[in-house]
Amino acid sequence: MRTAAEYIESLRARRLELWVDGERCASPVDHPKVRPAIHAIAATYALAHDPRWRELATARSALIDAPVNRFCHLFVEPDDLVKKISLQRVLGRLTGTCFQRCVGMDGLNALYLATHARPEAHARFTAWLAGVQRADDVLNGAMTDPKGDRSRRPSEQPEAYLRVVERRADGVVIRGAKVHQTGAANAHHILVMPGQALRPGEEDFAIACALPADADGVRMVLGRQPSDDRRGGPDAGNARFGGQECVVLFDDVFVPRERVFLDGDLAACAELVEAFAGFHRASYGGCKPGNLDVLIGAADLVTREHGVRRASHVRDKLVEMAHLTETIHGVGLAASEKSAQHPSGIWQVDPVLANVCKHNVTRLPYEIVRLAEDLAGGAMATLPSLAERDHPALAVGLAPVFGSEARAKALRLLESMAYGAGSVPFRIECMHGAGSPQAQRILLERAIDWDDKVARARVLAGLDPDDALGELS
Ligand SMILES: Cc1cc2nc3c(=O)[nH]c(=O)nc-3n(C[C@H](O)[C@H](O)[C@H](O)COP(=O)(O)OP(=O)(O)OC[C@H]3O[C@@H](n4cnc5c(N)ncnc54)[C@H](O)[C@@H]3O)c2cc1C
Repeated sequence: MRTAAEYIESLRARRLELWVDGERCASPVDHPKVRPAIHAIAATYALAHDPRWRELATARSALIDAPVNRFCHLFVEPDDLVKKISLQRVLGRLTGTCFQRCVGMDGLNALYLATHARPEAHARFTAWLAGVQRADDVLNGAMTDPKGDRSRRPSEQPEAYLRVVERRADGVVIRGAKVHQTGAANAHHILVMPGQALRPGEEDFAIACALPADADGVRMVLGRQPSDDRRGGPDAGNARFGGQECVVLFDDVFVPRERVFLDGDLAACAELVEAFAGFHRASYGGCKPGNLDVLIGAADLVTREHGVRRASHVRDKLVEMAHLTETIHGVGLAASEKSAQHPSGIWQVDPVLANVCKHNVTRLPYEIVRLAEDLAGGAMATLPSLAERDHPALAVGLAPVFGSEARAKALRLLESMAYGAGSVPFRIECMHGAGSPQAQRILLERAIDWDDKVARARVLAGLDPDDALGELS
């Protein structure tokens, strides 16, 4: 397994085409807007070699008969799902941001499961996965298409969806874009998957394949984030780590047959999308509570510096923040504990609880941020830059405005997570990552057995006999 330093060095071997602020980036690994996100991924490598976390961060792969980083691992034991959530919480707390390897991990498990009943496709996929595990590579899980007019099908606006434009004996040519791609510029491979279930006539969009991040015709464009110009500077908020999203453009990219896992197989693609949604919605019960630990810690620190930590309403608000955070984590763990084995051998989360978990994530962090903003006071939004605090002409006058170093830095961290660069991989990801709130409600309505609830209500209302308990006396 790679070390953190080996991971960072491995990225330099790529000929990545990355655009940042209108310019082609000569050295993505060293760009100040990219590097903090690389550090967040590097943490996933560091844990695999740290005796404190090694057991959580690694697993034994039967595929290659060797230990692997958990982010390359298949969920072959029920405990793999639980350990995933625990590891995500640790990493969310250690980095305070998105560490970018979860979409790939959840995606490769969904693909393993969805290709299982197709022996040739499954053999191609497992051969590729074995290579990923041996190299300990990072995957960009690429599902979301630009989608254009959401009321129209892909076949009515093909340019808004990634699609196969040519099929050859030795592979396929794909064209289009994937948007909001977490960690794409820090990945070794792109794992392309459809973003939704597709209908007959939409086979060209039903493509799941893998390609190197620097394949010919792949172009990446870094997303802008609020206050991202502060990265690497004293006002960054999160001094070391950051998230990353890119648009990935596929300009007639050839994918060789051995890297094409599903092509036009609507049923397998539907199974893939649904399985991925379950895995990934539970994942938010790990990473986001970890991020929230940091947010709560920063708010707590400010109240200590302000001398109000013992006030009853402050204590109560901190308790409320912790309570909501553990509510998210608890459901993520429960979804993973209540798992069931797919015929492929992969363990799947409970779909209802996984969707409840992610749905909570679209709501509870917003209340937690509101409470953090309450406790922090207005300075989290109005504090001048630390450069002015340290300027000889202003330092004396600004000293009481800034207060201690701890107060100033905690306020900057809160600002970043609430609405600065850190809010993209934290708050906005809470809302839309793994699907917007309505996607979870649709699944919940479908998955819940409404008739079963009515049946029991009818029994207890005395309308029907009690077949479950019979006569008790
Ligand atoms: C920070 C971040 C990281 C992400 N990382 C990844 C990643 O690594 N890989 C990846 O593939 N994707 C990623 N995503 C994408 C994520 O899955 C999508 O944002 C999500 O599925 C919502 O899609 P959208 O952004 O296009 O919004 P939309 O789908 O446009 O949703 C916006 C609103 O429109 C509603 N809506 C959409 N379609 C319809 C319709 N037909 N009828 C009625 N209402 C509709 C939605 O319910 C929602 O309320 C990420 C997103 C974010 C924000």
